[in-house]
Amino acid sequence: VGGRSVADIRNDFPYFSAGASPAASVAYLDSAATSQRPRQVLDAERDYLEHHLAAVHRGASAAVGESTTRFEDARETVARFVGAGDREIVWAENATDALNIVALGMADAAAGLGAPEASRFVLGPGDEIVVTEAEHHANLIPWQRLAKRTGATLVPVRVDEHGLWSLDAMAAAITSRTKVVAFAEVSNVTGYLAPVQDVAELAHRVGALVVLDACQSVPHRPVDFGASGVDFAAFSGHKMLGPNGIGVLYGRAELLDALPPARTGGSTITTVTLEEANFLPAPQRFEAGTQPVSQVIALGEAVRYLDAIGMDALAAHEQAFADRVTDAVAALPGVRIVGPRPGEPRAGLVSVAVDGVHAHDVGQVLDDAGVIVRVGHHCAQPLHRALGLTATTRASSHVYTTTDEADRFVDALSGVRKFFGLEGKAS
Ligand code: PMP
Repeated sequence: VGGRSVADIRNDFPYFSAGASPAASVAYLDSAATSQRPRQVLDAERDYLEHHLAAVHRGASAAVGESTTRFEDARETVARFVGAGDREIVWAENATDALNIVALGMADAAAGLGAPEASRFVLGPGDEIVVTEAEHHANLIPWQRLAKRTGATLVPVRVDEHGLWSLDAMAAAITSRTKVVAFAEVSNVTGYLAPVQDVAELAHRVGALVVLDACQSVPHRPVDFGASGVDFAAFSGHKMLGPNGIGVLYGRAELLDALPPARTGGSTITTVTLEEANFLPAPQRFEAGTQPVSQVIALGEAVRYLDAIGMDALAAHEQAFADRVTDAVAALPGVRIVGPRPGEPRAGLVSVAVDGVHAHDVGQVLDDAGVIVRVGHHCAQPLHRALGLTATTRASSHVYTTTDEADRFVDALSGVRKFFGLEGKAS
């Protein structure tokens, strides 16, 4: 990947080193839930904590100055990585938190808590929020709540029998009443790659805001939010070789400057009286309280690591994983692949349903074979309901995933129906 062998890349990851943990012998196919971290990222966090730890943006000491520089350098690194300006990157706890900052800020605007320029965020009865049926709950529930708070209506874009939505269905859902269009660039269940730019154009034609869940895209493929024209986007550090406890909200600067900060407190203000507070421009207006500084610095290092690999190379590596898995699984009787058909473009994750066997039982058989996957509804219950399923089994890849791991997943999966005495039975 990016001119390096996967074996060499794996040497960067302590998790895979022989004898370091039981993980050396398992097939780790759960990177869509959380990714492993290279030594470079772990070292960067440790180095900061051991030698440079100090407050940021508070006080006048040289130590605080240096800590602040490192903190803001990481923001610049992340901004460049996703085609954003520095002021367009807001630190959040995770992607879920980032999406809530937008939805709750809009609720505050509707409650009259914003400055006059926040009027563009005000929703009311008759206004519509378009979401897809495939959304992760993190990009669904905040919009449900905003609709309930404001009297706006949630309009779903339905999926087909494979869990995919079409640009036509999206176009039909977007009308002059649409104020927000929220969708994932990559589905965490189907691996579907959304036509982001096309949807952004449709939404902007009617003056709607585009909110992108980029949780499964930023860690795995090139993105350029500035070029794609989205208004807001959210992603998490822990899925991109970085730490837990840090997420990112991207927003166009003029929108962030106008969005009311839903969480308030120290470090967000210009002046405060007993009655009123005036807020700083973005990003500081959203970063209330002490920030997760070591996580931010480690995330900057994770981005440098991904950049050195190259995101085009990483996307190709993961498409090869998906192709290998879907080609092999398509030949297994009684196993249904959710999402794009084998050979079609998809992200590096594959979810399957085994006829007659609950995903948790599939997961148990795979676990016994040392194959770590995710089972369940993957925080996408409406999607599973639309597919007539309660749960699926998902194998997902990252830069360190080997073809051997892909094959171990398929091998273990091929034995599941036999294990439960279903082999040869009609599916
Ligand atoms: N959206 C998608 C598509 C995801 O895959 C996830 C993580 N499973 C999230 C949102 C939420 O991410 P986090 O839990 O890091 O906030």
